[in-house]
Amino acid sequence: MTTYRKTDRRPTGETLAAAVGVDVGGTHVRAALVDREGHVLHHLRTGTPPEGGDALLAEVAGLVHALRHSRRGSTIEGIGVGTGGVVEPGTGRVLSATALIREWAGKNLAAEIEERCGHPCRVDNDGNAQALGELRYGAGQRFGHFVLITIGTGVGGGIVVDGRVYRGARGGAGEVGHVAVPGGGPCSCGRRDCLEGAVGGRAVERLWEERTGAPAADLFTRGPRDPDVDVFMRERAEILAVGIASVVNILNPQAVIVAGGPLYRSHLEWIQARVRELVLPACAAVEVMPSAVGEHLGVVGAAALVWEDG
Ligand SMILES: [Zn+2]
Repeated sequence: MTTYRKTDRRPTGETLAAAVGVDVGGTHVRAALVDREGHVLHHLRTGTPPEGGDALLAEVAGLVHALRHSRRGSTIEGIGVGTGGVVEPGTGRVLSATALIREWAGKNLAAEIEERCGHPCRVDNDGNAQALGELRYGAGQRFGHFVLITIGTGVGGGIVVDGRVYRGARGGAGEVGHVAVPGGGPCSCGRRDCLEGAVGGRAVERLWEERTGAPAADLFTRGPRDPDVDVFMRERAEILAVGIASVVNILNPQAVIVAGGPLYRSHLEWIQARVRELVLPACAAVEVMPSAVGEHLGVVGAAALVWEDG
C-alpha cells in the first residue's frame, strides 16, 4: 500500500521531480503535488463552481498556482487532470460531460490549462486516471486485468487490460456507472435505469431521504454499523453486485477494485460472493477489494497521467 508522507524526502541539494494531479468532480476539485512514487507532498481542495466552464478552469489554474508555491525545490514536470465526462484520447478535449459538470463538453482542457499554467498537461476521464493510479501504486500492481469502480457523487470506472488502461475507440470505455440495472434510478446522464442512479452517492442520499424522511447526513452520522443503515446498504450492494457481474462476464478481470463509497466498505466481501454466484464459472475467481491508494486516488491517478507511456 502506498503511504503518504508530509515530510520532504528530497536528498539535500537535489530537486524533486513532481507532477500536479487534479481531480475534477461534480462536488469538489482536488489538486495535489505528487512525486514519482505516488507520494502526496501537498494537497488542496475546493468546491466545484456550479456554473462550471471557465469558472471551473479558473479554479483549476488557481489550485495549480497555489501548489507551485507550496513546495519550492520541486520541479513540476507536468499537470495531469482526471475529470468527469468522456475525454478524447490524445487531445485532452471533453467530448461529453454529464449534468454534474456544466459547460464542460467541447472544452479542450489540455490546451486551456497549458495556456493558463505554463506546464504540459494531460487530461483523461477520472475513472481512467484512477485505474492508472491503482495500477502504478495500489492494489492493481498485482493484476494485469482489473476493473476500477469509483463511487462518489456519481459512479465512474476504468478498465486495465494487459497492464494498460483500455480507453476504447473514443475514450468512452469503462463507464461502469451507466450499465443498465433493474432498480436503477434517474442518472446524471439523463437516462434512467443506470447503476449510478441506484448506487451512486447522490442516489443513495436521495433514496435514504425518501425512505426515512431523515436528511442524508443522517446516514453518515449513524454509520454502517447501524442496523437500518446496514439493511439499506445491503439492498444497494445487491444492485451493485448485479452491475459488477455484467462487467465481469464481459471482461473476465482478475479483480474489481472499488474506490470511494465508504458505506459499501463493510459489504465488499458479500459483494464478491454475490458476483461469483452471478457470473460464468470461467470468471468466478474474480476478487472484489477496496482501493489500496485510498482517499487520494483521484489526484495520485491524475498525476500518474504525466508519466504514463505513450
Ligand atoms: Zn447514466
